[in-house]
Amino acid sequence: MTERTPYLISGDTGDWEVVMGLEVHAQVASSAKLFSGASTEFGADPNCNVSLVDAAMPGMLPVINRKCVEQAVRTGLGLNAEINLFSRFDRKNYFYPDLPQGYQISQFAHPIVGEGEIEVDVEPAHGDPAYSFTVGIERLHLEQDAGKSIHDMDPDSTYVDLNRSGVALMEIVSKPHIRSPYEAASYVKKLKSIVVALGTCDGDMEKGNLRADVNVSVCKPGGYDKFRETGDFGHLGIRCEIKNMNSFRFIQQAIEYEARRQIAILEDGGSVDQETRLFDTVKGETRSMRSKEDAHDYRYFPDPDLLPLEIDQTWIDEIKADLPELPDEKRARFESEYKLSRYDAGVLSSDAEKAEFFEAVAKGRDPKLSANWVSQELFGYLNKNDLELVETPVSAAQLGGLIDLISDDTISGKIAKDVFAKMIESGDDAGVIVEREGLKQVTDTGAIEAIVDEIIAANPEQAAGVREKPKAIGWFVGQVMKASGGKANPGAVNKILREKLGA
Ligand code: ADP
Ligand code: MG
Repeated sequence: MTERTPYLISGDTGDWEVVMGLEVHAQVASSAKLFSGASTEFGADPNCNVSLVDAAMPGMLPVINRKCVEQAVRTGLGLNAEINLFSRFDRKNYFYPDLPQGYQISQFAHPIVGEGEIEVDVEPAHGDPAYSFTVGIERLHLEQDAGKSIHDMDPDSTYVDLNRSGVALMEIVSKPHIRSPYEAASYVKKLKSIVVALGTCDGDMEKGNLRADVNVSVCKPGGYDKFRETGDFGHLGIRCEIKNMNSFRFIQQAIEYEARRQIAILEDGGSVDQETRLFDTVKGETRSMRSKEDAHDYRYFPDPDLLPLEIDQTWIDEIKADLPELPDEKRARFESEYKLSRYDAGVLSSDAEKAEFFEAVAKGRDPKLSANWVSQELFGYLNKNDLELVETPVSAAQLGGLIDLISDDTISGKIAKDVFAKMIESGDDAGVIVEREGLKQVTDTGAIEAIVDEIIAANPEQAAGVREKPKAIGWFVGQVMKASGGKANPGAVNKILREKLGA
């Protein structure tokens, strides 16, 4: 595993480091809301999933949904975090049309989950190799989502849809341990894979079910290390928070833009205002939304309608005993069981469906060969064509069938790629295609010998050359393969050529 090298941005006065901490909002997978029995189903007609509690009718009282608490505990365990037996709900007061209560019920001083940490895998990109790093988790708390203002239905009025009002969110706050735009995206990816594996959030970013606020600051090289040594935030720069990012690509673009914006200000002798910003995806710029100077005073106080949340260690232990295999455990198992590299194991275990597909292909077959075919050929094809695994034109059984033909020497790896392309096109099994198109590898040594003899006879000078420079045999292998239409067994071709040419 390679070392993590700092990501530097060069400005006019030299290099700068970027530091990030993320606040991720993950919608809790639960059929009912956090404090009411209203449905959380996506796509319902506006204001159809709204109870009297969600609409904040006078006198309505919230009742905690046990399932949401359980999901938060499960997530905390998946983040290797401390679960707090005592936590409390606070009112965060602010006025906004999509918030009928006039306050959001959240957890401020006593979150349900405390400190934890996760390993983040960074895939190779921009010529840099793969590596992994650890991100500290500050806390996870439960809170209500707000409704949604709709500005584009009427030119003169704003409408409100309260279907989301009161839906349970987990806010997962990281420590500022993230050091490049790509690391930030990789962190969100890892969080997503964990909550999806746990079944605590569906991770659907397009629907806004997983979204990130990204805090970005810049400092001179060495600042981050000093911060880690001393814990003193003074070694980091002043941060800006970019709200509500729900795509990996935009997260990276926004950070890149924001870091350069801050560097330009600092190099100009100015100072960064701590503020909340929005990313304009069309312009590719961040712009100020509100500054901290006129920051809201949320006037947090314990919600008098709710008792503190006290949970039993035995319940936590039960939830723990029932956790599914998490991405890291799966990766470790893939490394040991299938002898895959850490990187290959990571790619194949990052998502439950991919992992299941790979295991179906690898069952009873060469794991390395299976891993290559699944992650390079099949995933490569799917990526290129923007397809999800469920849309794969080649099933696990069919891909397994193709691999079997390679393993028993019926076809070479090279021919297999052509067969694979034809499988995608036709949907036929590999065996049917090989049979129909006569692609079986020629292992009959007599037939190969005949071709070899012919080619040696036609190229006496090259043949003489090989005796002095045995490496030149490659040219002959190529010729024989070509003459056989790619069907000659490469091992046999090599062996026969060596014998005949005395190389
Ligand atoms: P607030 O409640 O005002 O948003 P927090 O202390 O909860 O402040 O921090 C919010 C997020 O900002 C956390 O994810 C934290 O890691 C991150 N953060 C704090 N300081 C910095 C900094 N200097 N640079 C980048 N991120 C930071
Ligand atoms: Mg914040």
